Amino acid sequence: TISCLGLDSDGNISGVTTTSGLFFKIPGRVGDSPIIGAGLYVDNEVGACGSTGRGEENLKNLSSFLAVEYMRQGMSPTNACLEVCKRIVDKARLPNLLDDKGMPDFNVNFYALNKKGEYGCASIYGPSSYAVNDGKENTRKEGAYLYS
Ligand code: ASP
Repeated sequence: TISCLGLDSDGNISGVTTTSGLFFKIPGRVGDSPIIGAGLYVDNEVGACGSTGRGEENLKNLSSFLAVEYMRQGMSPTNACLEVCKRIVDKARLPNLLDDKGMPDFNVNFYALNKKGEYGCASIYGPSSYAVNDGKENTRKEGAYLYS
């Protein structure tokens, strides 16, 4: 899955996600990428979030929408992504998607951008890397994470 978020010189935000889905997926599975709010969400008043990783968790938590809502409340893009990771881990306790040590048996990564041009990334397991182009150069960054 590739998530790509952009902010143009007029301050307009856009986002797109391409995906092949998960390896060995069940035929007919619909992942999170084509579901607005799950694998991608853009609100031009606030910011955008895209995701890679186990899509089922994003479908259950509307994770990308949630990250944008956290940014609307004033969180930085990185903190919004981290908060979503925490929510997902918390919600995974009930259907017991945690292993013997209480750790998730999956990963998800979030990439977020706000109206001010601030951006960030976070994962349950990290760090994961992402690329930024500020209009002048490309740089590779590492995101925040809950567990290494
Ligand atoms: N999120 C995608 C899916 O669950 C998979 C991926 O990110 O590689 O369909």
